Amino acid sequence: MKLKKEIIVMKFGGSSVADAAKIERVAERVIRVKNTSSSSVVVVVSAMGDTTDELIELSGKVSEEPSRREMDMLLSTGEQVSIALLAMAIQKKGFGCISLTGNQAGIITDDVYSNAKILTIVTGRVLKELKSGKIVVVAGFQGVTQAGDIATLGRGGSDTTAVALAAALNADYCEIYTDVDGVYTTDPNMVEGAKKIVKLCYDEMLELASSGAKVLHLRAVEFAKKHNVVLHVRSSFNDNEGTWVMDDNKKTDRMERPVVTGVTYDTNEAKITILGLEDIPGIAARLFGAFAEENINVDLIVQNVSEGGVAAISLTVKNEDIAVARKVIENLKSTVKFSSFNIDPDVAKVSIVGAGMQSHPGVAAAMFDILAREDINIEMISTSPIRISCVIRKEKVKLAVKALHKGFELEK
Ligand code: ADP
Ligand code: ASP
Ligand code: MG
Repeated sequence: MKLKKEIIVMKFGGSSVADAAKIERVAERVIRVKNTSSSSVVVVVSAMGDTTDELIELSGKVSEEPSRREMDMLLSTGEQVSIALLAMAIQKKGFGCISLTGNQAGIITDDVYSNAKILTIVTGRVLKELKSGKIVVVAGFQGVTQAGDIATLGRGGSDTTAVALAAALNADYCEIYTDVDGVYTTDPNMVEGAKKIVKLCYDEMLELASSGAKVLHLRAVEFAKKHNVVLHVRSSFNDNEGTWVMDDNKKTDRMERPVVTGVTYDTNEAKITILGLEDIPGIAARLFGAFAEENINVDLIVQNVSEGGVAAISLTVKNEDIAVARKVIENLKSTVKFSSFNIDPDVAKVSIVGAGMQSHPGVAAAMFDILAREDINIEMISTSPIRISCVIRKEKVKLAVKALHKGFELEK
């Protein structure tokens, strides 16, 4: 596929810049693109290898509950190291290049530290550097709040930096270079027979990303859909064509869609159950309002039929939000009547995603049947028009993903 655009945005993830030799290879690849196209090139990079995890671990040695602002100050340093090194490697090869932090690149965010949203990108500086012929290397995952503080975009957020820049620069073409050849029918590092998907529409990719396929950050896909940015997810280690994520207006080459396009899993969720809840209007609003106030995203929600005026609600949150969620519920004791609550971190969510599901009844039944045959108990269920998710025991997640992948005939 040939898409000639004035500006190309190339994003390289942590594993692609994990050491000096890999940074050198990325520099060569960037220069190759610059040389073979007439486009200006913007590069977005993540922190080297496991740097972000290591910084989180380090913070834990200093404080059990570091403030989110200082966490962002710390975590943003990872990307600052990789942009400087990549810019040096490119300059050494005789090309004009400049590195910019999120702040310098004009990436303005809200002040929700550790999960900030990009509000706008002031592109003046980036455009000025591009016009002077330089390759611009921008730090992923970070921006600056309107008050001038550094904020990060949530784990995996460099993808979002890249797509947001592509949208702001009108470069409706963004390449995401990573450690796999594209988006697969399931995590290729978990299931050997996973197949690369050639083309996906935004809605399918949104559901895959939101249900655990971490190959693309969810908000990156949201940006891409909103601004119609074409994404090409591909390997940074070979030249193979990857996966194209784009609008579904033009009918795809597939005459008929597969019912299920992909299987995902998420082991980073905990199930919270609140028992003996007073069953009167306004309780759910108060409960979920309190979570929202603390910026906790609630994923699945199940409320049982009330008996004797009391109900139970189960919900899932991300593991990193457990401590805050516990406080929120404890603080609610004064305004909401309930008897007890428990938090269970040993759960996982498995999902099947496919735009073809909409016109095929019986997909949910088939999913439940496949899980039942493996003796896997379903604890919670949620659906969208093109996704079905089940919460199960964490230790069964691999078995479930493999069985669903095989059961829906996605194997290579
Ligand atoms: P990067 O550091 O380049 O941002 P990530 O680790 O964030 O890379 O994302 C790539 C990883 O996503 C792969 O190594 C793979 O294990 C995982 N992954 C999960 N589901 C999928 C999927 N459906 N297709 C491709 N990769 C997936
Ligand atoms: N370095 C950040 C992380 O590890 C951002 C990213 O890699 O996209 O989450
Ligand atoms: Mg990533």
